[in-house]
Amino acid sequence: MKNHTILLSLLVLILASCSGNKNLIEVKFEGEAQGTYYAVTYYDSKGISYQQAIDSFFRAFDQSASIYQKESIITRLNNNDSTAKADEIFTYVFNKSMEVSEKTDGAFDITVLPLVNAWGFGFTDPMKLDSAQVDSLLPLVNYRNVRLVNGRLVKSNPAIMVDFNAIAQGYSADLIGKILESHGIENYLIDVGGEVLARGTKPENKMWKVGIEKPAENADDERILNAVVSLRDKALATSGSYRKYFVKDGIRYSHTIDPKTGFPVNHTVLSVSVLAGDCISADAYATSFMVMGLDKTKKFLALHPELNAYIIYSDATGKLSTWSSDGLSQLIEAAPSEVK
Ligand code: ADP
Ligand code: MG
Repeated sequence: MKNHTILLSLLVLILASCSGNKNLIEVKFEGEAQGTYYAVTYYDSKGISYQQAIDSFFRAFDQSASIYQKESIITRLNNNDSTAKADEIFTYVFNKSMEVSEKTDGAFDITVLPLVNAWGFGFTDPMKLDSAQVDSLLPLVNYRNVRLVNGRLVKSNPAIMVDFNAIAQGYSADLIGKILESHGIENYLIDVGGEVLARGTKPENKMWKVGIEKPAENADDERILNAVVSLRDKALATSGSYRKYFVKDGIRYSHTIDPKTGFPVNHTVLSVSVLAGDCISADAYATSFMVMGLDKTKKFLALHPELNAYIIYSDATGKLSTWSSDGLSQLIEAAPSEVK
């Protein structure tokens, strides 16, 4: 008898969730934030748009983590303003950055900001630096020389500055996910400038589909897909050297800096997409793998089964090739040649 009751309630539950799924309304909106676009799609029984809440979230996020805001917490801590104190967002991003730096042996390093600025990817004009100029800034770059103590940045040199640009978009996608979940939304896709977080599914259990772009020749070339990835309860973030760069005297400079040399990365990897459980990790490791290159990344992934990557690189003959770890290969829908 007891078993029957359990079975019956299970059946009712399944039926209820099926009929609930049919009544879900798709909500979709886009906007601008963090110097890029964002796009959100979700399914909600009431069809309510939470765009306003998300826009105010982005403003609050920038007040903490944007180096482009004069009064943000990060700017004030960078400028050694003794009245500034790290808030929850700053603390989380800082601690995660340190963890990724440790794990990647410094390939990821938020103290690159003085170099990012000198090369022209921060808030100053593009420059071509020579080795002597790079050498003069390199002593400022080392994540071990900065610590967060009681909300204050303790630096071995006051000129040290930190930059969350390689990780902030991913974290904001995670936080938007939390906002949606607080409203009872369980099925959503969030894209902040190409860093994507997918939870649940589309109706009828269909997985979310996300495209990985083919590296373009020029920054504003049309976007062509190289692969399509099916996602559910995962994040996918991409770092590339082909959209954000500048050309000076015929040389292309990537916006990812190798913290060891102080020079923009200049190897055959054109784009790295990382699959992870949360978007902050996917974003941070995508940047790290751009610095590490193909061989080091393969070795790293062999030791980190929780991460997967899809890498587009130019082979010895200059032809575009792709490499993917097993966990990601399984989610790739179309072979690159079949995708337009
Ligand atoms: P995208 O996803 O647009 O390719 P990334 O997530 O890789 O961008 O972030 C690149 C930005 O991160 C740079 O513009 C710079 O501000 C910062 N950055 C550059 N090199 C590093 C590095 N080695 N570690 C951490 N941050 C970096
Ligand atoms: Mg990144």
